Amino acid sequence: MINFFLLFALILFVVGYWRLDDFRRVYWSKKYRDSALSDNDIAILYRYMPIYRSLSAEQRVRLNHHIVWFLGEKRVLGRNGLDVNRAMRLIIAADACLLGLNQDWPLYPNVSEILLYPSQYYVSESARDGAGLINYHTRIRQGESWPGGTLVLSWQDVLEGNRLPNDGHNLVIHEFAHQLDQQSGQTNGTPALPKRITYGRWGEVLSRAFGRLKTQLAYQMPCTFDAYAATNEAEFFAVASETFIEKPHQFYQSEPELYHLFVEYYQFDPLLWYR
Ligand SMILES: [Zn+2]
Repeated sequence: MINFFLLFALILFVVGYWRLDDFRRVYWSKKYRDSALSDNDIAILYRYMPIYRSLSAEQRVRLNHHIVWFLGEKRVLGRNGLDVNRAMRLIIAADACLLGLNQDWPLYPNVSEILLYPSQYYVSESARDGAGLINYHTRIRQGESWPGGTLVLSWQDVLEGNRLPNDGHNLVIHEFAHQLDQQSGQTNGTPALPKRITYGRWGEVLSRAFGRLKTQLAYQMPCTFDAYAATNEAEFFAVASETFIEKPHQFYQSEPELYHLFVEYYQFDPLLWYR
């Protein structure tokens, strides 16, 4: 009899765990059903996020709903004395949710908190050299994305990334793209893919584009992607995601196959925003 109950409890646990996101979605849809951004919130987004103005009315409604959820589920904590206000939270949430515009909750399930510095910050690093000696040095950073789900951002760079919407640089998009990548368990430029995209196809298309970028840089040819994308496949995916949002025309012209793959993955087409 005890074995029967144990088996029943185990089945219940497995089914519950398997359907956990479905249960949470029902809970969230009730929790946030009557929540909405205020007129002041919307005015802030119009003012500080030029891409927000380019979205269709339907997309803005969807993004607003995501932002409400994001602000309710994720914490933004100030560092180095930074007092985080509503506008800061809004802009970070809006950029992050833009990437997940047509995805279901939970967006970025591993992320529970974002650490926000006033500007670029210093981190101490150590590395062991060939002789076994440990070298310590200090490095300056704009942002980080940790596989455990913590993000670190420089507010000055968040703002700058939104102020210039067509330069291909957006810190929040970059770091949250790393989070998507890390959801697969590795940081290698391959996020967890929906069934409609095979891992083989993703790997082939990404590798070809990555190889072309390295060749372009080697021969000092003009490139659509920032040179930092050539660091490794993970940075390539993060930089390509920034370029996808901010320079879709150039992206499409230079790498149409990869562009179409990103449209399939992200489920929206930024070319439509810039007509
Ligand atoms: Zn990066």
